[in-house]
Amino acid sequence: MAAPRTIAVAGAGVAGLTAALALAATGFRVIVLEKADRLEEVGAGLQLSPNATRILIDLGLRAALAARAVAPDAISVRAADHGGEIVRIPLGRAAERDGAPYWVIHRADLQMALHEAAERAPSIELRLGTPCTDFAADNGGVRVTAGGETIAAAALIGADGVRSAVRGRLFPDVRPQDTGSIAWRGTALIERIDGAVVPRETRLWLGGGLHMVAYPISAGRAVNIVAFTPGTWRDDGWSAPGEATELTGILDTHGWGRDPRRFVAAADGWTRWALATIDSRRIAARGPVALIGDAAHAMLPFTAQGAGMAIEDAMVLARCLAETPDDAAGACARYTAARAARVARVQRTAERNGRIYHLKGPAALARNLVMRGLGGTRLLNRQDWIYRWRVGD
Ligand SMILES: Cc1cc2nc3c(=O)[nH]c(=O)nc-3n(C[C@H](O)[C@H](O)[C@H](O)COP(=O)(O)OP(=O)(O)OC[C@H]3O[C@@H](n4cnc5c(N)ncnc54)[C@H](O)[C@@H]3O)c2cc1C
Repeated sequence: MAAPRTIAVAGAGVAGLTAALALAATGFRVIVLEKADRLEEVGAGLQLSPNATRILIDLGLRAALAARAVAPDAISVRAADHGGEIVRIPLGRAAERDGAPYWVIHRADLQMALHEAAERAPSIELRLGTPCTDFAADNGGVRVTAGGETIAAAALIGADGVRSAVRGRLFPDVRPQDTGSIAWRGTALIERIDGAVVPRETRLWLGGGLHMVAYPISAGRAVNIVAFTPGTWRDDGWSAPGEATELTGILDTHGWGRDPRRFVAAADGWTRWALATIDSRRIAARGPVALIGDAAHAMLPFTAQGAGMAIEDAMVLARCLAETPDDAAGACARYTAARAARVARVQRTAERNGRIYHLKGPAALARNLVMRGLGGTRLLNRQDWIYRWRVGD
């Protein structure tokens, strides 16, 4: 019997680890190259809709994730000034699609569940502290340089995030684009929030040029809070400290009221990161090398689909490689073609959501009326094209 083919994956984030599990499940040997010395438990919460949870469940992660995730009952969309509810979008059973749940989870919990599953898989080798620095096509495959070694692989998957080195080699002109948006992230223990909090509810406050979301994480013991503000501050990292007084100053200027501010006041500290995007339309197929996740299409988080698209990518690429294991270049080309339209549509939807969330004055009042008129169930069902997606669509 021929030895299993080796696929090299650069990056052990959500995209890279999901790809490793999906590839191992179809019989490949996988070497995951991760530049960090350890997989740090950082980041904020992630919303995982049924298109993503279905894949994670198929990979055997239901029990590990269900123990850490929360399935919120609803999203309460609120006006940031007076705190009144504009519309209530049902989640829970209403958001399930074919048995796949809508979960919110700490990014570190998802990362840990993926990491533990990868460690249990004998055909996955995770090399920490091993950045992928170069690669070259070789004899139908690819020779990957990482940590001073050269690895011969049938294909290389660039899952190395928004500042991807693999993308930099393939498409030097495709660089992260500044969005003029800053995400502020804090967590708060439920009991520290002043006044009543519905433990299984996501809140989304809209307030004239800004918005903020809060949802339960850590099996409901804490709330993840992310505020999106305009700003020119820039930094490449995910965990730069943010000053609470700067954030509250911005909320003051925009007239934000007590309801969102009691969440902000309870946060245990703030980190912030500058949101950057990658124009997915400029990514094409290039031999036996493919990009997945943020490396291929970092997007504004305003449809909460960054991780979801990374998870979908991972599964589609693994299926393509399994279909034609002797033709990795053909598989990468089919993968790229299969993902282009969907990913571009999700990116456009995220941009449009940002414009809608940040309306001001009379336009914001009109938006609120339209949302109320449509009602929560119709607003939820508008996401069906995202949630009902399946591999092969
Ligand atoms: C530390 C961190 C915190 C985050 N926090 C949030 C958050 O709070 N909220 C949110 O919505 N999204 C967050 N994200 C982004 C979110 O996780 C992604 O949109 C989504 O999960 C897609 O992930 P990805 O695997 O494509 O990229 P990433 O999650 O960025 O993972 C890329 C991985 O590649 C590694 N890497 C980079 N360069 C190389 C190289 N040359 N060789 C080998 N490995 C390399 C990185 O160390 C990282 O582990 C965070 C990402 C990171 C890395």
